[in-house]
Order: sequence, then structure tokens, then C-alpha cells
Amino acid sequence: MKKHNFSAGPCILPQVVLKKASEAILNFNDDDLSLIEISHRSKPFVEVMNKAQSLVKELLEVPDGYSVLFLQGGASMEFLMVAMNLMKVDGKAAYTNTGAWAKKAITEANSLGEAIVLGDSSDKNYNYIPKGYTIPSDVDYFHCTSNNTIYGTQMKVFPSCSTLMVCDMSSDIFSRKVDVSKFDLIYAGAQKNMGPAGTTLVIVKDEILGNTGRNIPTMLDYNTHISKGSMFNTPPVFPIYVSMLTLEWLKNLGGVEAIEKINQQKADLLYGEIDRNPLFEGTAAMEDRSNMNVCFLLTDSSKEGAFNTMWDEAGISGIKGHRSVGGYRASMYNAMPIESVQVLVDTMNKLEEN
Ligand code: PMP
Repeated sequence: MKKHNFSAGPCILPQVVLKKASEAILNFNDDDLSLIEISHRSKPFVEVMNKAQSLVKELLEVPDGYSVLFLQGGASMEFLMVAMNLMKVDGKAAYTNTGAWAKKAITEANSLGEAIVLGDSSDKNYNYIPKGYTIPSDVDYFHCTSNNTIYGTQMKVFPSCSTLMVCDMSSDIFSRKVDVSKFDLIYAGAQKNMGPAGTTLVIVKDEILGNTGRNIPTMLDYNTHISKGSMFNTPPVFPIYVSMLTLEWLKNLGGVEAIEKINQQKADLLYGEIDRNPLFEGTAAMEDRSNMNVCFLLTDSSKEGAFNTMWDEAGISGIKGHRSVGGYRASMYNAMPIESVQVLVDTMNKLEEN
């Protein structure tokens, strides 16, 4: 039986997507060739790329004037590419420091210019989203992380911003409605809500590029990839194909609006149990709790062995917390069925009755 997969990433993908993807490895499009042994310039793959890009545009209602790219190097490469492409020579940018990933983005920006940190939640091991800061208008851009995968915090509102707005949406893209027109650049590693690791989605407003005064290396220049439709070099064909299938699955389900409701139900179910059951406590500030990554601790450490045995026997996998937070982290990305969340909640209940 398939396990209840609460892994933080790479993570659960829809079963129907995995089945179609495995079929395409052997025989793609009934052409008696594998998806991964045909040219990326062949008509069938060009169709995959076009469809993946148009599904992103449709599902997120991306306005005209933006390009959708499938790049490589992970979200970590975007930490650098964002600064390379948007920070002027000797320029500065404003960042929120809301976790380990945000911090890595700050490090990259500091390698090219100055990253000013506006909101910093490191004082409480990143268990809240900083608020109330003012973004200066003289910075080249503002960068934030919408969902902090390790600590289970999520920005519920985005600050108003008179400069360029950049967001790392790696762990909550496609999980809720966002107004893309408020952002100038959004990026996300595929391996949460979109597909397997190996490609990174970048949505960028074309007109913001080319203004840094910097000579950008070819592969790090967004314009290189825009001008070639994400085909400047060989793209990661399999991750892009699986992403296309996952986005198709999401569209058939009713799109982002529909999944947002389901994600809210899953979050209400699990947080409800954490708050009700005296054996558990959440680690993130209530108002900043993530609907994707739910971090919690046992209030009585003597129950740890019993709980670990119980969830393991229930077929639950991947709920060990990140080493910097400890305890448990149940990640409930789009493909996680509510039934699996119910199994976890039942297990928590059973521990209380034990
Ligand atoms: N940003 C966030 C919010 C993440 O959760 C992660 C890791 N999953 C990254 C960036 C880094 O992504 P990658 O491993 O694709 O470089």
C-alpha cells in the first residue's frame, strides 16, 4: 500500500501523474520512443514545453508582459540570478530574513552588492513572519520568501512595495491564489507543488531586465532564456514533462481556487488536532502558520517512542521535523489527500487515549 507521504520535498505527487510519467519513460505519445530519448527540439517535446508554460500562465493568471521559464540549478541558483539580473552595480536590495533559505538568498545578494535586512525573525528561530517594516524606495528590489518550509511559517499578506517585488514561492506556489501582477519576479523549485526536482519555475516581468549595468554571464542572464523560450541549452525534459502533467491535474481539479479550499480544510484539520490535543503544540506563531508545512512538538517527550511506532505502523512517512526545529513536520502539499491527514490526526488521537 502507498504510504501517507508527508515529506517536505521532494514530496508527494498525484498518483495519476506518476503513472503517466512512468508510461512516458517507456513509450511517449505512442511513438515507441521514450520521452527521455527524443530531442528536446522535436515536435512532441516542444509541445510539452509550450503546454507547461501556458498552464502556468492560465493557473496563476499571469498577465501579459511576463515570461515563464523552466530553468535549472534549483531555487538556490535563483538566489544568485535574481541579484545578477536586478541589482545594479554597487546597488542595494532589501530582504526579509525569515529562515535558512532566505538567509542563503541574502548571502548571494551580498556577494554582488548590499542586502539590507528589513524583517528578521532569527531571534525566535524563525517561528514568525516579521511585519511592520517599510521598504525603502531607493533599493533595486525587495525580496521575500512566501513560505518558510523548515519552520512552517507563511506570509498571509504581502507588503506594499514601490520598488521591484521578488518572491521565492518554492514551497507554496500553486497552493493559493496570488496576484502575480503585484510581483516583478517569482521563482520556485519544482519539487513541491509542481513536479520532480530538476527544474525551477521563473515568472519574470520582461521590462525589468537589462538595467543593471552589469555584464551578466550568458547562462545567468534571464534574457538568454527568454529569447530562446527556455531552450537555450537542453532543458530538463523529464521534470518539465512531469510538471506539465501535475499542472494539468490541478487544472482538472478546478485550479488554484479549488486546491486552496482543500488545502485550508487539511490545515484546519491538523492544526485543530494540535490545538485540541494536550500532547502536542505547534511551533509557529498562530497567525503565521503555514498551510503547507505544519511543525509541531510533543509536550511530553516520554511519549516519543510510542508516537513514532504508531505513525510508522499507520503507514505515515516523512514527518520528522527539520534538525533545526526538531519535533515533527507534516508537509501537506497539493497532492496530499485529506484522508492521509485524517490518518495522522487519528494517530495523534490514539496516542492521547493510550
Ligand atoms: N527556497 C525554499 C523556500 C525552499 O524550501 C527550498 C528548498 N526546498 C529552496 C529555496 C532551495 O531549493 P533548491 O533545493 O531547489 O535549490
